[in-house]
Amino acid sequence: MKYIFVTGGVVSSLGKGLAAASLGTLLEHRGLKVILQKFDPYLNVDPGTMSPFQHGEVYVLTDGAETDLDLGHYERFTNCVLTRKNNLTSGQVYETVLTKERRGDYLGKTVQVIPHVTDEIKARIRQAGENQPADVVITEIGGTTGDIEGLPFLEAIRQFTLDAGPGNSIIMHVTLVPFIRAAGELKTKPTQQSIAKLREIGLQPQVLICRTEHALDEDVRHKLSMFCNVAQQAVIEGRDVDHTIYEAPLMLQNEGLDDIVCQALHLDVPPADMTDWKRFVRRVVSPRKRVKIAVVGKYIDLQDAYKSIYESLTHAGAANDCGIDLVLADAEEMEEGEAESHLKQAAGILVPGGFGDRGIEGKIAATRYARESGIPYLGLCLGMQVATIEFARHVCGLDRANSTEFDLETPHPVICLLEEQKDVRDKGASMRLGLWETRLTPGTKAREIYGRDEVHERHRHRYEYNMQYRATMEEKGFVIAGTSPDGTLVELIELRDHPWFLACQFHPEFQSKPNLPHPLFRGFIAASLAQGA
Ligand code: GLN
Repeated sequence: MKYIFVTGGVVSSLGKGLAAASLGTLLEHRGLKVILQKFDPYLNVDPGTMSPFQHGEVYVLTDGAETDLDLGHYERFTNCVLTRKNNLTSGQVYETVLTKERRGDYLGKTVQVIPHVTDEIKARIRQAGENQPADVVITEIGGTTGDIEGLPFLEAIRQFTLDAGPGNSIIMHVTLVPFIRAAGELKTKPTQQSIAKLREIGLQPQVLICRTEHALDEDVRHKLSMFCNVAQQAVIEGRDVDHTIYEAPLMLQNEGLDDIVCQALHLDVPPADMTDWKRFVRRVVSPRKRVKIAVVGKYIDLQDAYKSIYESLTHAGAANDCGIDLVLADAEEMEEGEAESHLKQAAGILVPGGFGDRGIEGKIAATRYARESGIPYLGLCLGMQVATIEFARHVCGLDRANSTEFDLETPHPVICLLEEQKDVRDKGASMRLGLWETRLTPGTKAREIYGRDEVHERHRHRYEYNMQYRATMEEKGFVIAGTSPDGTLVELIELRDHPWFLACQFHPEFQSKPNLPHPLFRGFIAASLAQGA
């Protein structure tokens, strides 16, 4: 087993996750089996309890783990199927160590960061490859070199690398090489200093990925090589991509990244044939058609909050030979029932997931507009709950219908707490999470789009459709298009008298890949295209 550790220097948000995922796909295209994982130094046990304002999207895995959004990049860029073992936080490490201490496992010993915390981290590095057979394990360390919280992870890597022996592990450092306009120069000092920080801990990177807005000329490469003690050909230029993040693996391949990594790790494998990837990128970069899709949410200003949704739209666009122009509509600004003015240019309307009552009335207004004007609508999780409330209020005349999440006093709780949730008090990892089966109803649009009778989709919610309203709503054209196998939980709904109105309780955005777009997204874009034509 070979190990690659990805660290970050100078600033955060350099796209370490993308760099790791890009290397992953390059190695996979060389015939290697790759597994990726992320270590996050914060103390939350998982990001499930963090606000999107803090952390961006929470990415949900098949096994129900609530993880960092970089795991979304890993799953989209490679074929690896990740589990809760692939996202470790300091919170989890300390939780494990303290449980062992209370149990008496360390009896007699003083429990310390070295070796007890670092041992736990090293065990997780080893387990990644043991749980799923792989040739290469890529481990990304969150945060920036120099952060206090990151130290135990870097120390664990130092010890691990020593045990693994030469030629079995490398460190790839992703760093910033800023351009100072007044001087007209790229500056290498911040990188030199972050490498010095790593060397202080005993770590020497073998590869540098230099995030830069300008080309790295020979001089700059030479300087970085000399001061950072990295071979000059391993100083890799990581320019900002022109159009899409999916160009990143191709750019890094041009810079020779995968060759250098394979050499350093003594991996004798053929070069990567990226034909399929290039074809996908070409379709994203120069599509023949374009379509405007509105996303109505409350985290519209945050690039990362709906990451998987935006990626899924891109995948579905490429499958339809169509570029996506996003119309980002802030649900909170629509409360006054002015949906139409915000949304009239959109050929399709998507309402994503969310928690809490802020922006709900705006989402309801947007949904009403989509329903009444026959615009294709895709509702995801909260988007399905909102569609239910809207239909109950305005079609079935159930005044003040609502979800008990937003109004405990509502006379018509069309969305209410899952039975299993009634006594749950803890907020962490306590929702209905992960992969669950849905049985599709024969004759529905959903059944036709999926082309199968049952599907497995990822979930993250506490509330659900209230079956007591089924008959009243079905009579008016509300269609239950999918349920849990026992028929008790509504998973998918659609509207009888609408060209394309579909909403699901699950999150299809967590299962879309570049060359394998999710059927619901693909269908939604196809319908929006037809609408816009
Ligand atoms: N807040 C809603 C629930 O808990 C929807 C969750 C979501 O959109 N992920 O059921």
